[in-house]
Amino acid sequence: MAETVRVRFAPAPTGYLHVGGARTALYNWLVARHHGGTFVLRVEDTDQSRSTDESVAALQDSLRWLGIDWDEGPEVGGPFGPYRQTERLDIYRDATDRLLAEGKAYRCWCTPEELEERRKAVLARGKPWRYDRRCLERSEEEVRALEDEGRPAAVRFRQPGHDVVVDDTIRGKATFHAADLDDFVIMRSTGFPTYLLAAAVDDWKMEMTHVIRGEDLHSSTPRQVLLLEALGAERVPAYAHLPLIVGKDRQPLSKRHGSVAVEWFRDEGYLPEALVNYLALLGWSYDDHTELFSRDDLVRHFDMKRVARNPAMFDQEKLDWMNGHYIREADPDRIAGLLLERLAGVDADPEVVRQATPLVQERSRTLNEAADMLRFLFEDLEPNEKARKLLDGQGEYLAAVAERLAGLEDWSVDAIHQALEALAEERGLSKTKAFQPIRAAVTFSNISPPLFESLALLGRERSLARIRSAGS
Ligand code: GLU
Repeated sequence: MAETVRVRFAPAPTGYLHVGGARTALYNWLVARHHGGTFVLRVEDTDQSRSTDESVAALQDSLRWLGIDWDEGPEVGGPFGPYRQTERLDIYRDATDRLLAEGKAYRCWCTPEELEERRKAVLARGKPWRYDRRCLERSEEEVRALEDEGRPAAVRFRQPGHDVVVDDTIRGKATFHAADLDDFVIMRSTGFPTYLLAAAVDDWKMEMTHVIRGEDLHSSTPRQVLLLEALGAERVPAYAHLPLIVGKDRQPLSKRHGSVAVEWFRDEGYLPEALVNYLALLGWSYDDHTELFSRDDLVRHFDMKRVARNPAMFDQEKLDWMNGHYIREADPDRIAGLLLERLAGVDADPEVVRQATPLVQERSRTLNEAADMLRFLFEDLEPNEKARKLLDGQGEYLAAVAERLAGLEDWSVDAIHQALEALAEERGLSKTKAFQPIRAAVTFSNISPPLFESLALLGRERSLARIRSAGS
């Protein structure tokens, strides 16, 4: 890649950022950063019925949260703007007019109902339906009459009738036969271009060197290549179609498999570096075994040549493991800040959260899990079911625990530890038997930060009150 690389992420703003879209954005961004190129964000909002400003904002938020910054695009501008397609309608109109003038496109007055009727008739004869060129074959008088009637017209691209070979970086060469390519619509009667035209024109005008996108768009490529040829583009970009992301059942990843929105992962307490690392490996590998990559490592090593062709399976457990790793590795003060945000409704003492953070960092897969483990420090909770079982029949023992702890001069981790171990020994109890009921009494759960530290952080009075009340 000797020339300056220009790549883009071109989402349709019709909802949240799907993890599949996030992976496409990430791969483009990595290619740009690896090669010192330019990463463009282009908003493909020409489907007026589905695009919203809220979605544009949500997509941008999710990208920013992932640390995927764009060099050109909405808000930052750039020499090839504007970067929202609805602000580029003139450009698509000019391209359409040129194709019309050169006889490479033609107006079509067929209504959806008429098309449907003819399609059904063709299918009933057991033939595949392609647009039948009814409007290309109309006489001049017919056309004039339709124009006089003021009936709105779409514009169709006129297939030149030759095969198209697409040489895809990931999928290799594929020949698309002329017989399978029909005269598709490039401009709707509303004056809005279709995706096929708008994306092709923009890839050309924005001087994209590579088009890296999801596999679902592979079949659009021959149409876009033909459009670029017809428009006299100096070149076509190099195309790379990323493998499908599937769930465990090997079906395309969708809501049926659980949450797929980047914002859900953020809310649930995944760290952006974990999600980035995980998404990078959904289709790409460095070698056969390395799994942990910092953002800098990814920029250094990422190579489209090592993107696989076969579907990539989304494995939530692996992501959870990876997130746990990044939570453990992270600076405790940063994690404490994030936990404090998650404890917003609880009146949490920031200093206590700061002290408790390293204890939960060690044992959480998500920030929400970590925050939940700290709630007992700030409020009384209903014991969970396992905690209730652990407390069953422990009245006498818990009273003894309270008495022993009440006698401590020094409420420190070491003093608490010694006192409780001595009591366990006296009673011939294993550590689990001895400590689990105390954990259940003070944290309302069977899972918590380490017990002695928990008691120390909770403080003498509250600890004793909880142990006494659980034992009575
Ligand atoms: N806007 C298209 C989509 O969201 C992607 C366009 C492209 O990458 O060519 O599916």
